[in-house]
Formats: sequence, C-alpha cells, structure tokens
Amino acid sequence: MTAQIIDGKALAEELRQGFKGRVEALTAKGHKPGLVVILVGADPASEVYVRNKVNGCLAIGMHSEKIVYDATVDQQVVLDKIAELNADPNIHGILVQLPLPKHFDEEKVLEAIAAAKDVDGFHAENVGALAQGNPRFIPCTPYGVMKMFEKGNVDLNGKEAVVIGRSNIVGKPMALLLINAGATVTVCNSRTRDLKFHTSRADIVVAAVGKPKFVTGDMIKPGAVVIDVGINRLPDGKLCGDVDFASCLETAGQITPVPGGVGPMTITMLLANTIEAAERKAAGN
Ligand code: NAP
Repeated sequence: MTAQIIDGKALAEELRQGFKGRVEALTAKGHKPGLVVILVGADPASEVYVRNKVNGCLAIGMHSEKIVYDATVDQQVVLDKIAELNADPNIHGILVQLPLPKHFDEEKVLEAIAAAKDVDGFHAENVGALAQGNPRFIPCTPYGVMKMFEKGNVDLNGKEAVVIGRSNIVGKPMALLLINAGATVTVCNSRTRDLKFHTSRADIVVAAVGKPKFVTGDMIKPGAVVIDVGINRLPDGKLCGDVDFASCLETAGQITPVPGGVGPMTITMLLANTIEAAERKAAGN
C-alpha cells in the first residue's frame, strides 16, 4: 500500500486565497488586520521564520511589521513595547518569536501580550480556554494539523491517536485538540518506555520530536494517518521531518511530507488567527 499524501503547501495556498476576501472586507471597514512580530537576537532560523510571517501577511493585503532587538536588550524594553502594542488599535496580533535569549523570562513575556492579541495562542488564558474545549486562539502548528485532518477527511471521533512530544507549542495543544475532537489520546515523551507499543496500535500518529526520521514504517499500523511536524536540517543542508517518509509511505494510509506538509500550514493559521482577532475587534467582541 502507498499512502495518500496530504499536501500542506496546496492546502495553505487554498486557505490563503480564501483569506483575501475577509481581509478586504475588514480593510474597507477601517479594520485592516495588523500583525507585529518581535524578534530578539539574530538567530538565522528565527530570522527566516519572521520574514516568512511578515511576508505572508503582506501577500494577502494585511499590515505587518517586525521589530528587531539586539540579543542583549533589557527585558523591560520588550515588555514596554508589548504594552504599547497592546494599546494600539491598529494592531490585532502580537507575536514574540521564540526562543528568547537566556536572560529573558519567557513566560512573563508571553503573559504580557493581551490575550485578545495573542495570535500564537500561548497566553495562559488562551491555553486554558483550549483545555476547556472552548478555544479562542489555537496555537498555529496544531491548528494547521487539524485543518489537514479536515482536508484529508480524517474522522477523529473514537480513533486512537498518539502524539509524540509534549511541548507547549506543539505536543500539548495537539493532544488537547484531539481530545476535544473525540479521539482517545496518548501523549508520549522521552521517558516513554515502549514507544512502538503505542504507535503501532494508533490510527493517528503525530510526530513532534525534533529527531530526523525518528518514526519508521515498522512503528506504524497499516493504514494509519501519519502527521510529521518535525523540521530538521540534515548535514547535507536538506530538510527532513521526524518521520522516515520512505518507509512510512508504504505502511501509512495518509501521510504529510516535509517540506510541504505541516510547515506551510503553521504560518497560514497565524494569518487566520490575526484575521479572526481583527474580525472580533470589528464586531466589538
Ligand atoms: P521540543 O520542545 O524539543 O519537544 C520535543 C518533544 O519530543 C519533547 O516533549 C520530548 O520529550 C519528546 N521526545 C524527545 N525524544 C523522544 C523520544 N525518544 N521518544 C519520545 N519522545 C521524545 O520540540 P517542539 O518545539 O515541540 O518541536 C518538535 C519538532 O517540530 C521540531 O522538529 C521542530 O522543529 C518542529 N516544529 C515544526 C513546526 C512547523 O511549523 N512545522 C512548528 C514548531 C515545531 P521530553 O519532554 O521528555 O523531553
């Protein structure tokens, strides 16, 4: 069996085209959606992510700007800027690119962003709302994965789902979304004793581990849906996921590639969250 590929690049493009009308309608009413991305330091990977986020907004007619600080900047300077942006009626979304330099208290910075502008969905208020099954902003990567399930007509109700990884930005919110969708969810981590025992009985496997080609075909139940969140750079410069695509392609029922899978969906859902924030503000909510 060869798995059906869920094409994240094509889905991302389709969704972004669909956003244009909403952006135009908001702009016509004086509520052009605006996103500010704050970058501290000069990590090359972060610089690329930030550029793609800003350009993604501009390409569909939104306003977006980046604010860059030197890695040695005092945390208070960033907190003051966030306070200023919280009060700016033209800015609907504020995102602080992670990771922050070591002298920063990441939690404090994320909590400083107004919950109504927290388009990354990392503020405790938004995490709580998601946990209660009533999300306001869903973290962009797992949100993108949910859209891919939708596109692939994957019915999550009653399914066995295994999430590998328990980070706050991917694993945990992914697990909550799957729980909310009616799946029976197991969340694995580096201390899980027998990972294969879990993955090989799962109808759905989401890999968010950060280890190249970690999930192999022999770990997967025939016909399973395999979602690869990982982005790893190999020594030859090529990108690869946390899933060994070649071996899983033969076993899985549906699979996402890297590149061209979850990656393009993440920024797309950031745009979606920012547009939703602007729509809520326009509606007075
Ligand atoms: P992370 O914070 O490093 O978390 C990795 C998780 O994997 C941890 O919970 C860790 O367990 C678990 N893990 C490590 N080794 C394991 C093992 N042998 N068996 C089972 N679990 C294991 O990473 P992250 O931020 O969630 O990101 C995960 C991957 O997704 C990375 O490749 C990252 O680049 C990628 N990513 C992609 C996107 C996108 O847009 N596509 C967005 C975000 C992240 P412990 O908690 O026990 O350490």
